[in-house]
Amino acid sequence: MKAVTVVPGDATSLRLEEVAEPEPGADELLLTMLMAGICGTDHEILEGDIGYPAPGRDRLVLGHEALGQVSTAPEGSDFSPGDLVAPIVRRPDPVPCANCAVGEWDMCRNGRFTEAGIRGLDGYTAQELSLPAEFAVKVSPDLGYLGVLVEPASVVAKAWEHILHIGSRGHWSANRVLVTGAGPIGLLATLFATRLGVEVHVLDRATDGPKPGLVGDLGALYHNEGLERIGEQFDVVLECTGDFDLVMAVPAVTGPNGIVCLAGVTDEGHQVVVNSDLARNLVLENRTVFGTVNGNRRHYEEAARVLAHTDQTWLGQVVNRRIPLDDWKEAYTRHPDDVKTVIQFLPPKGGVPAQPARGDSPDAPS
Ligand SMILES: [Zn+2]
Repeated sequence: MKAVTVVPGDATSLRLEEVAEPEPGADELLLTMLMAGICGTDHEILEGDIGYPAPGRDRLVLGHEALGQVSTAPEGSDFSPGDLVAPIVRRPDPVPCANCAVGEWDMCRNGRFTEAGIRGLDGYTAQELSLPAEFAVKVSPDLGYLGVLVEPASVVAKAWEHILHIGSRGHWSANRVLVTGAGPIGLLATLFATRLGVEVHVLDRATDGPKPGLVGDLGALYHNEGLERIGEQFDVVLECTGDFDLVMAVPAVTGPNGIVCLAGVTDEGHQVVVNSDLARNLVLENRTVFGTVNGNRRHYEEAARVLAHTDQTWLGQVVNRRIPLDDWKEAYTRHPDDVKTVIQFLPPKGGVPAQPARGDSPDAPS
């Protein structure tokens, strides 16, 4: 079978190659992979910022956002042939730490976890995959290929769970929400926010392309004129860009008891002079700034539930560049109007349609 592999840190090493077919163990599903999503983390691995292969290996099968269809399932498992599945990315550390021991591997304390397609474990951009059933999440057949968004949506589900948990420390509601960045994570964060029925603003640099329309379709307000133009007193800011200047600026646009959730990864090594008012205002009005990464099983399940109840036309426009396997390399080239780029291995079997986005065809790069 074919898989996209790389020597982390060497972008010239990226290739589609023949690798050994998986041999599922007693507790494992055999999946026929349908789609793999590409995100900033994949580009960081290509650029050498993060990532390493499994022990004793030079190359890593890339990809951690994926959708597969069950070919074979262990007897007595919750899965049957034909089920659509999103594979979970992170695996608990072997110690395990107190969090990994109870399935909260997203909160691992010792850093010895592995992540498929990222650190120490082969990923999902392959034609077939053997996957322990405990790391498989069922995707509604109604969602079809859009189940490729379950992984990024799980990150957002966790972020919102933690925001609401922190908010519950007092009498507080997320009445005004700001999302910075309208990439896939920002758009999915906006989707989750609008489901709360609250006022949602989104800030991004794009002045045209699909982002303003995707934000507007959710009933949120789109801004591209800079943070200073969109007001203050936000109850929540979800920072999804990782832009360091923005990270430092957003606490000032929250109201008393405001919560800033950092979901974008900032480059290393920035040094700035910080005005002490930042710390003073965090204290005097109970503001919180916190970071979040990854998700555990319940976040994937929540993501799959929310996506199954979301307008599929809208989701189809988020997955706006679908590259067939034969043209796989094209998927790793960035285009200005990209939202979510995916490699399509196969259309799902069993009558699940791969819906084209508006004005797009599933097999044609736009
Ligand atoms: Zn752990």
